[in-house]
Amino acid sequence: MKNHYEVLVIGGGPAGLAAATGAARLGLDVALVDEQKAPGGQIYRNVFAAEDRAARYLGKDYMRGKQLVVEFLQSGATYLNNASVWYLDERLETGLLIDGASHFVTADRLILATGAQERPMPLPGWQLPGVMTAGAGQILLKSAGIVPQGRLVLAGNGPLLLLLAWQYLQADVKIEALVDTTPVSRLRRALPDLPRALAAFEYLVKGVSLMRAISKARIPVYRHVDDLRAEGGESLEAVSFDSGRKRGGDGSRIQIDADTLMTHHGVIPNLRLALAAGCKVEWDRQQQCWKASTDIWGQSSVDPVMVAGDCAGIVGARAAELQGRLCALQAGHRLQKIDAGRRDRAAQPVTRSLARHLSIRPFLDKLYAPVPAYLLPGDDTLVCRCEEVRAGQIRAAARTGCVGPNQVKAFTRCGMGPCQGCLCASTVSALIADENGAPMEEVGYFRVRPPFKPITLGELSNS
Ligand SMILES: Cc1cc2nc3c(=O)[nH]c(=O)nc-3n(C[C@H](O)[C@H](O)[C@H](O)COP(=O)(O)OP(=O)(O)OC[C@H]3O[C@@H](n4cnc5c(N)ncnc54)[C@H](O)[C@@H]3O)c2cc1C
Repeated sequence: MKNHYEVLVIGGGPAGLAAATGAARLGLDVALVDEQKAPGGQIYRNVFAAEDRAARYLGKDYMRGKQLVVEFLQSGATYLNNASVWYLDERLETGLLIDGASHFVTADRLILATGAQERPMPLPGWQLPGVMTAGAGQILLKSAGIVPQGRLVLAGNGPLLLLLAWQYLQADVKIEALVDTTPVSRLRRALPDLPRALAAFEYLVKGVSLMRAISKARIPVYRHVDDLRAEGGESLEAVSFDSGRKRGGDGSRIQIDADTLMTHHGVIPNLRLALAAGCKVEWDRQQQCWKASTDIWGQSSVDPVMVAGDCAGIVGARAAELQGRLCALQAGHRLQKIDAGRRDRAAQPVTRSLARHLSIRPFLDKLYAPVPAYLLPGDDTLVCRCEEVRAGQIRAAARTGCVGPNQVKAFTRCGMGPCQGCLCASTVSALIADENGAPMEEVGYFRVRPPFKPITLGELSNS
């Protein structure tokens, strides 16, 4: 394996695939690194191997990824799969773990396309066996055709939840209930952005068709619910929630017996590598998350580092792909393969299309904004499941004078477990901001430290 490339792309989703394909077509020496076994990222996971049967239950938007993968595989870029980036520093030395051995590579330009992760949805009982995220359920479906057995409840808010319900229906999975936590006021808040969203009407059409299919299948749907809980002793036994009198329910507490609960609370940028590279990040008030700061070309605050796709703010697959193409053009320009004129001409249709795909965002961001009850869980709810730290302990640490998550970490151990804060970081910062009445920009985020992925001493020394 080489230890230097002109362009190193991290992430094989739509953004990374488009960036690597574009850069390789400009004659650059490109490598794309991804921890998955096949190209595609989250949305197009395993798409190359998908058969017609999978197309039936995963849908045509999923199958669209096949063309992107084919173009990438034919582009001449080197593909390093099953390769986790466990190390990155401000000198941009990148540590890869491949087949149990550690390798270091460098590049003239680094394109980070590390995508998104699900926003945590801490609720009472979410640590019970039987509770998982909708994204995890979808990964099992896409990568191995595995579906849940027994009584299944889907709960939360966001388009991915509706999509998963539809995919499960196509795969003949029985869903006991869809529990929607979107507050009643959200549609009213989002409506002013509907006219702008019409420019990307296909997203609205898709949303409506998913909802129609769910209603046609007669899945019980509970809307605008409150106080969602996973109930059980050793494992999940039931899901309970408040139907909310003012929200169209009769105000009663509803309990549904369940073996599996899949929750979803939207997605947020996966920023670990951007932070490790020293890139500036900013708080996005609309999406309530941190994102890498970039210009239109994906240029970050660190000169050789560019960022494309959901890592620089949640944009969706089509926009991520277009951002990847812009990154490739700029990389080609910076590495003297094309002049500014050729770059700008090639970018024109891409930026036009990008603006159209982004026009849906304000509507979606308002409709599916995170729900306060799961952004700021009650004192008894576990926030850091690895170290078993509850929301009340984080609030207490804030009250005793901790102004940021790194101090709270030192006092409570939250974020020190095997997931290294992946699942609690955003909740910890939100709780401190709320308790101290401080803006998120002041509170900040967990410092990241390698290894970003678990690596044994044996693997580390085996290079
Ligand atoms: C679990 C999940 C499921 C989703 N499913 C859908 C869906 O079905 N339909 C839809 O429209 N949108 C879906 N989304 C949203 C969708 O991911 C994005 O809008 C879109 O795919 C973003 O593309 P991207 O290229 O920016 O990132 P992604 O597609 O997320 O690709 C990022 C890639 O980076 C890799 N990566 C990250 N960190 C490392 C590392 N340290 N080392 C090596 N590789 C790394 C990941 O393995 C991944 O392949 C999903 C999001 C999540 C979190």
